[in-house]
Amino acid sequence: MEDLLAVTEAGLYCAAGDFFVDPWRRVPRAVITHAHADHARTGCGRYLCAAAGKPVLRIRMGSNAVIDTVRYGEPTTINGVRVSLHPAGHVLGSAQVRLEHRGQTWVVSGDYKLEADPTCAAFEPVPCHVFVTESTFGLPVYRWPEPAVVAAEINAWWRANRDAGRTSVVLAYALGKAQRIAALVDPEIGPIVGHGAVMKLVEAYRASGVRLPSIDRVPPRARRVGGGRALVIAPPSVLGSPWLKLFGETSVAVCSGWMTVRGVRRRRNVEKGFVVSDHADFPGLVAAIDASRAERVLVTHGFADVLARYLRERGRDAKPLATRFTGEALGESGDDDESTAEYNGGEPPDTQPAPP
Ligand SMILES: [Zn+2]
Ligand SMILES: [Zn+2]
Repeated sequence: MEDLLAVTEAGLYCAAGDFFVDPWRRVPRAVITHAHADHARTGCGRYLCAAAGKPVLRIRMGSNAVIDTVRYGEPTTINGVRVSLHPAGHVLGSAQVRLEHRGQTWVVSGDYKLEADPTCAAFEPVPCHVFVTESTFGLPVYRWPEPAVVAAEINAWWRANRDAGRTSVVLAYALGKAQRIAALVDPEIGPIVGHGAVMKLVEAYRASGVRLPSIDRVPPRARRVGGGRALVIAPPSVLGSPWLKLFGETSVAVCSGWMTVRGVRRRRNVEKGFVVSDHADFPGLVAAIDASRAERVLVTHGFADVLARYLRERGRDAKPLATRFTGEALGESGDDDESTAEYNGGEPPDTQPAPP
């Protein structure tokens, strides 16, 4: 039987339904897992996304984009292919795409995580014949601490900085990670301040009904914002920019799964690293793949070869799916999601775990 999805020049294509899933070129019809730049490109004729993700996709794709939505779990039909979207737990509105046609069921995971996150719907396993999974952190060294443990670490760091009159700056992707950090920390410690790029998406989150603590904007021509007490949430691109000087003395931290590994923090020249990821860790990937009950697993977007080999050794039919996301293409997709940006321009991380 012919595969329901195939990799083409423009991305993952469903010939039966004549549409793409997360295409990397402009195509007439795109089903989108989520609004990160490496999954959602501007200029497509029509987009389909989960209803919860429309406000953020609108910000990213512009006011002229034609965006259709379905609610999670609610099926629609595109040229005879039954399509439904299911929570991926990655960022607000993120979805796994389920396709069903002539008795074949495929699920494309997009990016996902299994940890609880109050800013988006929790990952739901979707049984299928073929599971196309991401593998951003598909090495056994990647194992996340409990969210409550990381929250306590961030709060302790913020409190100590505040007591020393130093502004705490957290570098986090503007879509997803920034809002998750805001929801994770203790707002009693001091004011939370958001970079403009973060605030645009904070508003979209609020418009979608996500509860977040009060977050202040940086007023124009401000000096010494937050009086050395604030937690500033900003995208990684502010590192080394004059914008950071607005806050006087600072301590800068990165929140990322890559912080598991020794050397990544040092190379980025930041004082502190917290292990917070919006992707599944290695045990999470394996658990999600098991939960899919798939007969066949296609691995993309990260350490595809390693994870596929691991799955084969455990008796699964698994192989890497060669897409734009593999090999040297890493790092091309903009400073948006951990999938790509933390590599520092394609340089793979060390595989040495950080000391406890
Ligand atoms: Zn993503
Ligand atoms: Zn991604």
